Amino acid sequence: SEVSCEDVDRLGVLGHGNSGVVYQVRHKTTSQVYALKVVHGHSDPLVCRQLLRETDILRRTADCPYIVKCYGIEEKPSGDIAMVMEYMDLGTLDSLCKDLGGTLSEEKVAHVARQVLNGLSYLHANKIVHRDIKPSNLLVNKNLEVKIGDFGVSKIMCPTLDARNSFVGTCAYMSPDRLDPEAHGGDYDAYAGDIWSLGLTVLELYLGHFPLLQPGQRPDWPTLMDAICFADPPRLPEEDGASKEFRSFIQCCLQKEASKRWTASQLLSHPFLAKVLKP
Ligand code: ADP
Ligand code: MG
Repeated sequence: SEVSCEDVDRLGVLGHGNSGVVYQVRHKTTSQVYALKVVHGHSDPLVCRQLLRETDILRRTADCPYIVKCYGIEEKPSGDIAMVMEYMDLGTLDSLCKDLGGTLSEEKVAHVARQVLNGLSYLHANKIVHRDIKPSNLLVNKNLEVKIGDFGVSKIMCPTLDARNSFVGTCAYMSPDRLDPEAHGGDYDAYAGDIWSLGLTVLELYLGHFPLLQPGQRPDWPTLMDAICFADPPRLPEEDGASKEFRSFIQCCLQKEASKRWTASQLLSHPFLAKVLKP
């Protein structure tokens, strides 16, 4: 059932994003808590286009439990667009991981990986590429469900369109073939780009820092470009104590050549995911 932004009271601000503000809100009659994202749509045509894409994607993914649900989308007379979304009470994986001391155990990382892969395999099967998978776009609730959020730069793949879009999203998590397609096996494979980003995300949650940079290293563009395109892909250090299944999982995601990366559905049967503790 639809929820209108007229039906809710604002409780506070949950976060500021690139495109707008996300509020915590409560339904006036049911008291149910939601997240309300408000984007000033009229100003920038690029933001407008991205937002229409996001709303379209959220409508199509309403039945997937691994994607943040959307309960209503409205365009205000002012041109602002308001989206009522499922409230994820533990916030983003990025901030949650910091609150938990900076790193997650292998079991916790496997739990996260399984849920994000369930979401990605659903999206990819429906010809949707997320393109901005990273810890701050994955949301968690108190049932420890992890869901993919923020479809601001996602794209519905259409065979008649060029698969490569301009630079949007966070370059840091982009695959080598997306940044430099000629040098890394020709055609940029958008679906495999999400798998690279997932590999970096999982490694970051375990190591406690962005894996392509040394802690403290300046995240400037040349350093990043060099690390993504010219260095060997990051791996779990041998001496780290990580299991061989985990090391293998990372290798299956972080292949520089897109065609060598496993797909989301292949990764769902990787032995590393058997590490998830059954409740
Ligand atoms: P942007 O597209 O502008 O990056 P996001 O959708 O990523 O915006 O949201 C910005 C911030 O708002 C997030 O980092 C998070 O802290 C918070 N947030 C977004 N959606 C939710 C939600 N459904 N539940 C709880 N917090 C949320
Ligand atoms: Mg975001």
